[in-house]
Amino acid sequence: MSTSTLAPAPQAAPEPTAVRVQERPRRTLATPRHWAELDAAEKTAAVAQAGLPAFRLRQIDAHYYRRFEGEPDQWTDLSPADRETVATLFPPLITPVTQRTADRGTTVKSLYRLSDGVLVETVLMRYGLRRDLTPGPRGVRSTLCVSSQAGCGMACPFCATGQGGLDRNLTAGEIIEQVRSAAGDLARGELPGGPGHLSNIVFMGMGEPLANYRALLQAVRAITTPQPEGFGISARSLTISTVGLVPRIATLATEGLPITLAVSLHAPDDDLRDELCPINRRWNVSELLNAAHAYYETTGRRVSIEYALIRDINDQAFRAGLLADRLLERGKGWAHVNLIPLNPTPGSKWTASRPGVQEEFVARLERRGLPVTVRDTRGSDIDGACGQLAARVRDGVTAANANNGPNAQIDQRGQVEHEEAVV
Ligand code: SAH
Repeated sequence: MSTSTLAPAPQAAPEPTAVRVQERPRRTLATPRHWAELDAAEKTAAVAQAGLPAFRLRQIDAHYYRRFEGEPDQWTDLSPADRETVATLFPPLITPVTQRTADRGTTVKSLYRLSDGVLVETVLMRYGLRRDLTPGPRGVRSTLCVSSQAGCGMACPFCATGQGGLDRNLTAGEIIEQVRSAAGDLARGELPGGPGHLSNIVFMGMGEPLANYRALLQAVRAITTPQPEGFGISARSLTISTVGLVPRIATLATEGLPITLAVSLHAPDDDLRDELCPINRRWNVSELLNAAHAYYETTGRRVSIEYALIRDINDQAFRAGLLADRLLERGKGWAHVNLIPLNPTPGSKWTASRPGVQEEFVARLERRGLPVTVRDTRGSDIDGACGQLAARVRDGVTAANANNGPNAQIDQRGQVEHEEAVV
């Protein structure tokens, strides 16, 4: 049988280039243990050890998980002495540095500094508001994009975070605190549309979540445990996005959690994916799609295939066809394609696809019966793409020290700054 016209021409074996992926963090950090990291038995012990009556446990949980309050010194239902004692169980893990808003305040990007100085980002997006920012007919939803690592070791060349390497894994407490902080902003009505709650969480901020598996799962448990022992957000409302750590995808499938898996594919062929996602040299496209399909089989959750459209790199019509082949040869209905117009990182030679090319890519997938969405590019004017705000502030702080940079106004004292970028 002749080879398919879509198959790449036979080639010499690729050069044995070293995978540039950085597996080990530059350092690890032992942060003081936070209430959010304690299990039920540990909380009971901590309360007893602090000399507090047992009923305080539920009270503390309610403050933290129901009212999203992270600072016990404000908890006036405790005596001043008890507040001081409880505060030792709530070491400050993340400190807001700056916030930027876009889309008339409905997209909020927050930058936090962790106890050792590293920076991480979250993006909170509110959907379903009318033009006048009142709640629309189908209700209001809010999605938070959280970070799982400081930096990232996966070295994808189009991603801002990937350029700086992996600083360290976040602790479970640092991940949970990102959620608590955003849920608090929403509950206090700090976003347009009135007080609200977090509907969805996506692990699409900085880092590779499956490379920080233990902390990730601990955070997921805290997020999904019903209130007041956890935030009570259903696992169905969580999405974990991975560049393709195949064995960990298999492990995640066994956790019994109906989390949505998103796979950052970005290319249907190994030649190109080796370049766009260097981890592909370890686990190739076939292995990755097999793992993604198995995840669907085990959990029943449709997998999201992420594909950043990059002009003249991965947006050719033949690659749309090849992508459809690769997905359909594993069956129908198990995958959904999410196309992301590339958000160019500063200094990048790559840019987003031309509109006509993007439409053609969508059309070719749809003609093959694949469900396709194009991600809205919310917040791209506030460095919405992965890692861009952190990169800018790092550079800005340097510039501010030299007192001559465009970002010299960035507040180094840890105060929150609001920049309104209306689109
Ligand atoms: N490490 C995880 C999470 C990364 S961020 C992963 O690889 O899935 C979430 C998504 O944003 C990924 O699909 C990632 O490839 C994509 N992304 C990163 N930089 C981007 C950019 N400049 N433009 C568009 N998408 C980008």
